Amino acid sequence: MSEIDQQHLDAWRGEVRTWLASVAEPAQEEVFVWGEGDPRLQIFLALSHDEEVAFLTRVREYRRQRFAAGYGAISLPVEFGGAGLPSVYSVAFAQEERNFAVPPSSEIISVTTGLVGSAVSIFGTPEQREQFANAFLSTDLLCCQLFSEPGAGSDLAGLSTKAVRDGDDWLITGQKIWSSNAQFAEFGFILARTNPDAVKQGGITAFLVPMDAPGVEIRPIRQMSGPASFNEVWFDETRIPDSMRIGDIDAGWKVAQTTLGFERTSSGSGHRRKGGTASDLVVLAQHLGVNTDPVTRQELADITIRTRLHAAMVTKVARATASGGDPGPAGSLGKLLASDNLVRIGNTAANMLGSALVADTGEWGEFAWGEHVLGAPGYRLAGGTDEVQRNIVAERVLGLPAEHRTDKAPFSQLAKS
Ligand SMILES: Cc1cc2nc3c(=O)[nH]c(=O)nc-3n(C[C@H](O)[C@H](O)[C@H](O)COP(=O)(O)OP(=O)(O)OC[C@H]3O[C@@H](n4cnc5c(N)ncnc54)[C@H](O)[C@@H]3O)c2cc1C
Repeated sequence: MSEIDQQHLDAWRGEVRTWLASVAEPAQEEVFVWGEGDPRLQIFLALSHDEEVAFLTRVREYRRQRFAAGYGAISLPVEFGGAGLPSVYSVAFAQEERNFAVPPSSEIISVTTGLVGSAVSIFGTPEQREQFANAFLSTDLLCCQLFSEPGAGSDLAGLSTKAVRDGDDWLITGQKIWSSNAQFAEFGFILARTNPDAVKQGGITAFLVPMDAPGVEIRPIRQMSGPASFNEVWFDETRIPDSMRIGDIDAGWKVAQTTLGFERTSSGSGHRRKGGTASDLVVLAQHLGVNTDPVTRQELADITIRTRLHAAMVTKVARATASGGDPGPAGSLGKLLASDNLVRIGNTAANMLGSALVADTGEWGEFAWGEHVLGAPGYRLAGGTDEVQRNIVAERVLGLPAEHRTDKAPFSQLAKS
């Protein structure tokens, strides 16, 4: 389907609404009234281990129902097990979902369904699709993303965790970092170097690795915002069969690029409320009595306009990628606008609150803005930093000249220099 058929989309939306009404209550309208309700303004979920287990149980129950109803992989092509609908249908689903009290998504859920489930569907063998793709898309199995390393974040192709062939198996050795929710995952989607003598992008292979395999060690990292949802994951000659390889040997970069494209799109269009919003800021300004201050009014107007611009961009990107599948580099735009706005919202709250941002005065709702401010930098980094998104937009959307590169030699020679 290359053109959007508005009549078809409207009818489909109606079916979605009917289905949602059969599994969930209508959402209560979120009116932020000063002094009422839970003033948490976290950008990333901050839960204790037990709270997180209970939360994931609820989300997985809903996701299983959603998958069974045919809404688990809306934009994935039919030949890969999806509904084969243009991305604008995924956006429409998310919009309809917001009107119902369904459990919100979280990092491990988005990674499992939006990234790994889709990647295994596209690049996996028929056996892998049979065994894993649907299990990931329905969240029967959870899978964390094992891409970043201490020496390979933005420069992901510089990764040095290695996978060495041993008969029909591979032995994985190395360290991954910032692995969100790895402690709850049954599997990890890992990139490892299989050919150090190729250029750095050319010697990487993707695998699925069971997180309880011998030689895997998960160590939590406590964040400045309180929880420990990130981890370091260590591999010491972890043995996995070749049947766990996703895509061809040394072709993992293509798998990674496609996966990261999904990540940028989902980062920019996720339906979970992330931190404080423009309208929360207005309520804060009214509470503090600064809503008539000309500078504050200017900042509030600017953020409100940017919030609407982001919503329009998400829809525009979805329409531009109407044929489904790989969302491509334009997905960077939505991610960039979302993270930029979160930082601006935090800065405006900080300007209004002054020291009350960090000193808990006991005043309802003021200290909660600290959680937003502590979470915003993470959102600028996750899924590719703002600077990297700008490079992608410059080179691959605007067609500007590429940055000067000094890393075109084989990886083994780069590592020595
Ligand atoms: C909330 C969160 C969740 C995450 N979850 C996961 C996960 O589940 N799995 C996983 O594998 N990883 C995960 N990550 C890691 C994330 O992918 C990396 O943090 C990100 O890729 C940046 O890498 P880095 O932290 O090593 O920063 P670096 O790459 O070291 O960057 C440091 C600074 O240099 C800038 N910079 C680097 N290169 C360039 C360039 N070419 N041009 C301009 N500026 C540049 C960056 O923008 C940044 O400001 C997560 C991160 C966060 C914050």
